Amino acid sequence: MKLSKLFLFTTKEFPKDAEVISDKLLRKSNMLVKSHSGFYYYTPLLYKTLQKIRNIISQEMDKAGAQEVLLPILMKKELWDESGRWDTYLNADIMFHLSNRKDTEMCLGPTHEEAVTDLVRKFITSYKQLPVILYQQNTKFRDEIRPRFGLMRTCEFIMKDAYSFDHSEKGLDESYNKMRAAYKKIFDRIGLDYIIVQADSGAIGGSGSEEFMITSDSGEDTLLFCTECGYAANLEKADSVLNEVEFINYNSDLVKLHTPNIKTVEELVRFTNIPAYQMIKTVIFKLIFKESEKFAAVLIRGDLEINEIKLQNHFGCLELITASEEEVRTLTGAQVGFAGPFNLNSTVELIGDNSIKEVNYFLCGINETDYHNINVCFERNIKMPQTFDVKLAKQDEICPSCKKNRLIGKMGIEVGHIFKLGTKYSLKMNAFVTNENGESIPMLMGCYGIGTSRIISAAIEQNHDQNGIIWPVSIAPYHILIISIGKEAEIITEANELYNSLINKGYEVLFDDRDVSFGFKMKDADLIGIPLRIVVGKKVLDGIFEISDRKDNQKKELDISALYDYLKDKL
Ligand code: ATP
Ligand code: MG
Repeated sequence: MKLSKLFLFTTKEFPKDAEVISDKLLRKSNMLVKSHSGFYYYTPLLYKTLQKIRNIISQEMDKAGAQEVLLPILMKKELWDESGRWDTYLNADIMFHLSNRKDTEMCLGPTHEEAVTDLVRKFITSYKQLPVILYQQNTKFRDEIRPRFGLMRTCEFIMKDAYSFDHSEKGLDESYNKMRAAYKKIFDRIGLDYIIVQADSGAIGGSGSEEFMITSDSGEDTLLFCTECGYAANLEKADSVLNEVEFINYNSDLVKLHTPNIKTVEELVRFTNIPAYQMIKTVIFKLIFKESEKFAAVLIRGDLEINEIKLQNHFGCLELITASEEEVRTLTGAQVGFAGPFNLNSTVELIGDNSIKEVNYFLCGINETDYHNINVCFERNIKMPQTFDVKLAKQDEICPSCKKNRLIGKMGIEVGHIFKLGTKYSLKMNAFVTNENGESIPMLMGCYGIGTSRIISAAIEQNHDQNGIIWPVSIAPYHILIISIGKEAEIITEANELYNSLINKGYEVLFDDRDVSFGFKMKDADLIGIPLRIVVGKKVLDGIFEISDRKDNQKKELDISALYDYLKDKL
């Protein structure tokens, strides 16, 4: 392709609303053009990169035995009601929905478990037909609250989603491991630096799940991992062993303490000199279920925070929000900041985080404005509620796996997510097969997503310098960029000849034949990041071409046959 003809319109400035480098570079070059918040135009160079990513993904999926299909984007509510997810997604405000002229309600698919289960149940009736793995690379729609970071979080994006169907746990494990191995090959081939972390299953549901994360400061996910034993988890899921603290044995009776207008743990520490870890705070949440609401109070050590995702999973509610000031006042009869386990309204379900089990002689609220109790002991003064792991793990706490090293925190971009769904969808949607014993059993499913378009941004976050993108060869829109300098007819002829001959040899070549200055061409070359660059200038009259690598800018002067050898070696 000649740059003079290419639909590419680079600019000099970064767009003002771009926050991360990948978005800045993509939009400065206009490879990516913003339509409106969360929606983009891909111009030809970027579309080539997208297609390359798609191809790598499809090739590895095919090799792993998955078969490509195309599922409808627009789906009927009826189908989503079968799984019960219409309400969950509607409630989370993440789903675009509409109705047709007959008032049939539909959604633009944010994910496709329902559709693929519907397709499979039409034909698969016996265990003998299993396993089946189907996948597609299709457009997904999600009404994201905060679309941002260019292609990282958009409302319309390309996802590879695969779904496996088996008739035994063993089969599901095998399918899951096949997909996991294929994912590793995909991210290795693209040339990304990634880690695999334990993950929460979220609204998609199911048991085990892992995420493929590109570590990068611009990532939106926090990861905790142990360099000793390899434990790695998304913060949403992570556990930790708490650092040892020395509890003080006050060894005295319960005392009701006047704490005028002293509400937060910090204020209480200052006021009482009791360490935060020897306080128990009570946080009240409103739990929203499909047809009801209720309140829950969670007790947790004063120095720790609650992981709301763990809490939501525990209660199995559609949504969970901290109770409003007014709700707290009604439920506790006290101002916010004084809630506690004593005399709590009986409609509020009380649970504790595991961290409260070790604490005694603690301070806590008593649902009375301006008062707290100190020296409270479980069992002596109050019954310990049932406890669960609902705390937010932190870096520098101890690895829950080897129990030796401290956890390290890093930010990550989620590019892939694999789940064991089990029978969550097959049961509800009646996708059954007969097993070896002639019994009818629900199929065991897995689902496996890759953010095809998000990979573009993640790859740039990991591969750029201050001047532009440095595409990994595997996903570069073109491999070679020829730049001609000077207006002499001979130079132009040589450059054209080189361009034609490289194309004939099967290389993917871009030729900057524009009538603009050398400096201008070089700036664009840096920006669009084509891996190899060949400059055709005056030296070509002596048969010399200058070749350089976008990565390190090392220049080599080669004659034509050495140039061909070099390209053969590099590409
Ligand atoms: P996130 O936590 O980042 O919102 P998710 O867990 O909701 O993602 P999945 O449902 O697991 O996403 O989707 C599979 C893959 O699709 C993700 O791993 C991610 O790479 C990609 N993806 C999800 N949401 C978006 C989005 N809004 N824009 C671009 N890619 C996305
Ligand atoms: Mg995910």
